[in-house]
Amino acid sequence: MASARQIRLLPPELQNQIAAGEVVERPASLLKELIENALDAGATRLRVLIRDGGQSCIRVSDNGCGIPENELELALTRHATSKLSTIQDLGAIRSFGFRGEALPSIASVSRFRLASATRDGEGAALEVLHGRVVAIGPAAMPRGTEVEVQDLFANVPARLKFLKQPATETRKCGELFVRIALANLDVDFELLNGDRTVHRFLAGEDLPRRLYSVWPRELVDAAHHADMTDGPFSVRGLVGDPSTAQARGDRILVYVNGRPVQDRTMISAVREAYRGRILGKEYPQAVLFLQLPPDEVDVNVHPAKTEVRFQDEGAVFRLVRRAVSKALETGNDMPPLAENTAQFSVARALPVLPVSASPERDVALTPAPARPDSPLYEQAWPRKFSSSAAVQQLFETPEEFPAAPETAPRRSPDPGPQPEAQSTRYLGQFADTYLILAGSAGITLIDQHAAHERVLFHMLRSSGSRGDRRPLLMPLEIPMHPSQAQWVQEIWHQLDGLGFSLELAAGPKLLLHAVPALLTPSKAREFLEDALADKARSMEDLWAVMACKAAIKAGDVLTPDEALALIESWQSLPDRNFCPHGRPVSLLWTVGDLEKLFKRRS
Ligand code: ADP
Ligand code: MG
Repeated sequence: MASARQIRLLPPELQNQIAAGEVVERPASLLKELIENALDAGATRLRVLIRDGGQSCIRVSDNGCGIPENELELALTRHATSKLSTIQDLGAIRSFGFRGEALPSIASVSRFRLASATRDGEGAALEVLHGRVVAIGPAAMPRGTEVEVQDLFANVPARLKFLKQPATETRKCGELFVRIALANLDVDFELLNGDRTVHRFLAGEDLPRRLYSVWPRELVDAAHHADMTDGPFSVRGLVGDPSTAQARGDRILVYVNGRPVQDRTMISAVREAYRGRILGKEYPQAVLFLQLPPDEVDVNVHPAKTEVRFQDEGAVFRLVRRAVSKALETGNDMPPLAENTAQFSVARALPVLPVSASPERDVALTPAPARPDSPLYEQAWPRKFSSSAAVQQLFETPEEFPAAPETAPRRSPDPGPQPEAQSTRYLGQFADTYLILAGSAGITLIDQHAAHERVLFHMLRSSGSRGDRRPLLMPLEIPMHPSQAQWVQEIWHQLDGLGFSLELAAGPKLLLHAVPALLTPSKAREFLEDALADKARSMEDLWAVMACKAAIKAGDVLTPDEALALIESWQSLPDRNFCPHGRPVSLLWTVGDLEKLFKRRS
């Protein structure tokens, strides 16, 4: 039997060493504490030096307010802070620090030196070894503070073992340094690794400029500005263009009141805003700053303060998502097809691309007027088209399909002569898959399947579920797994809304008595099989699968009239640049791009 042991208060060094486990996990977390202390002290200039990934030395010097000589030792005492005095203060924290445990924790696991002056030429320094003060005395220095941490974790071998290669720790320190620099544009920052300057940010630079040193330049140049305010909440920053999305998930940088955080709510709101604009396996890049009243957010969740808790998580999610969506909808967009033109100059197509300039062109281009009494997708298209039913549906533009203002001039009574350079011309179809356009903006290739998918998706979404159905004489049978039968029952109502008349029979199997008018029976079967395999649930997901099944395919030959009708319908969509799965619909090469490709210009 174990004998009773005496309960003792731990000596302060040991308390600090234990606390250090949470506050200073690795060099980068320690660096974060030191930089934040400097910013809390009002520094406008900050120098950071690291050696051997921070293990042998991390030094941070600032020109902040400094620490009075008689408070130096206090600064190293646990729970001693100048930033908080009542519990009420905790609800309205404006500084980075407030717990008063970083310096004592760091000093307990290193050889530590703190030098500080509240006025130029004066000052004092304090040296600490593994938590015990070993020297104190005057130190002439300019106003500010310098903290030097050497031989980190030398007295905690267990911690030392967990440190990664110096190169990895250096990289983590660099990332942390940049993250903080991005949020403090009015501060001059320098990071040295040994004798080499790794980053130098000048005070007063703008965000894109600072981002240039960490992200590819093209990506920063193509990014969209986000800026949205809702009462006391605001979000601003830069979000990458969907075309520059990539496979790395670590480029969504979010901040709450200037504090870099790992916040799931904000990150998922960003991803949600990109949904349908990028592929599922891609990640967007974003730098977003959320400002909100301090009492709306709890930053005291963990000693490292990288997690926060919002009073109203839903409001934060919605604001961030709206801000990002709006940013993506503006700027960096392809100019409208009929920009400044009154006519498509089909006849001007390149000779190698056989494009007819048939007189019926205008008739075919005009969407068939939707009869108010006709079901949305009733088969009322011009018979002269021989292509797939899906192509024909292009002409069945529903009434509520919003006509974009830019397509209007095409029908103006007297357009007058238009300068050739400004018109956008359809040049033809390439590889039976891509539609080629030339215009003042450049050369555009449109993926016909993706564009049509987008058109159909929009039709489905804006018409809601009308349930127009095509009855089948003989029911189609789809065998299922019992778990799929369960899923079908859960979304029975949605499927009915889309136009399916279903019956669940023993087996289990699904009997199709009617299918959506938009789909042929075999496509309807494919749709259900795909939807079953994915267990799509939301209406949006179901529409996306349906649009994909019903859309014309790569390889379908389109007549110029069909192609133009498709382009025109697609052109009028508010959200046209990506198919519902997030693939790009069109690619544009500007004259500038071509000049670069042909090396006419560097
Ligand atoms: P906290 O930041 O949570 O208050 P720290 O242990 O990080 O706790 O720092 C303790 C105190 O030391 C701070 O409250 C501040 O008064 C002082 N201090 C630390 N670093 C600096 C600095 N770079 N400039 C001026 N004062 C500092
Ligand atoms: Mg601090």
